[in-house]
Amino acid sequence: MRKIIIAGNWKMHKTQRESLEFLQDFLPHLEETPEGREAVLCVPFTTLNVMSKNLHGSRVKLGAQNIHWEEQGAFTGEVSGEMLTEIGLNYVIVGHSERRQFFGETDETVNKRLLAAQRHGLIPILCVGESKAQRDAGETEQVIFGQLKKGLVDVDQSNLVIAYEPIWAIGTGDTCEASEANRVIGLIRSQLTNKDVTIQYGGSVKPDNVDEIMAQSEIDGALVGGASLTADSFARLVNYQ
Ligand code: 13P
Repeated sequence: MRKIIIAGNWKMHKTQRESLEFLQDFLPHLEETPEGREAVLCVPFTTLNVMSKNLHGSRVKLGAQNIHWEEQGAFTGEVSGEMLTEIGLNYVIVGHSERRQFFGETDETVNKRLLAAQRHGLIPILCVGESKAQRDAGETEQVIFGQLKKGLVDVDQSNLVIAYEPIWAIGTGDTCEASEANRVIGLIRSQLTNKDVTIQYGGSVKPDNVDEIMAQSEIDGALVGGASLTADSFARLVNYQ
């Protein structure tokens, strides 16, 4: 059975105070959430601790947005698996296109981070996706298959979530057609040994398109940036029809 997971990626947004205000408005909406649906919030490192305390006993799972592969040492600005698990996390995003684009993340470092997450009992959310130029050049499948092949070396597919996030659809309001996202996600699944991996779509998911996206047969959830930042809109996504 493939698990349905609606995850918010807050990126570099929200102070501790703003996070707590969000929770106050958001948590009551979960009373309407059907069973078997998971809501996840992937928040900045600085708010993980306070979020963990305030989500205790709720249905919401917590995630980080990055993890380093070494256990400790001279790696300024990085955070280890043990530091994250001590806080009580479940998930960690790995290889988001913004990390690949702005922070030099490669398929090799993505692979190391995935392995580190699993070593520490965290479920990594691996992000893959093509740029506009790659799509226009007809390279979508080749790019994504390459990211999967190199990223997933030695990775345990029974403890993994994948997010298909076409870069051109992120933060642009330019959503990938639901049927096209479904097609690419089917292709991603064809490359996996475990066919039950949860595969999310990400890229301008909003209250007005979530129902159509989630109605697709291959799509098991969403990874949401902008629309996860306000309680009402994220609640609408988690409680999709
Ligand atoms: P938007 O939902 O803001 O397009 O961001 C998607 C994303 O990058 C989630 O990781």
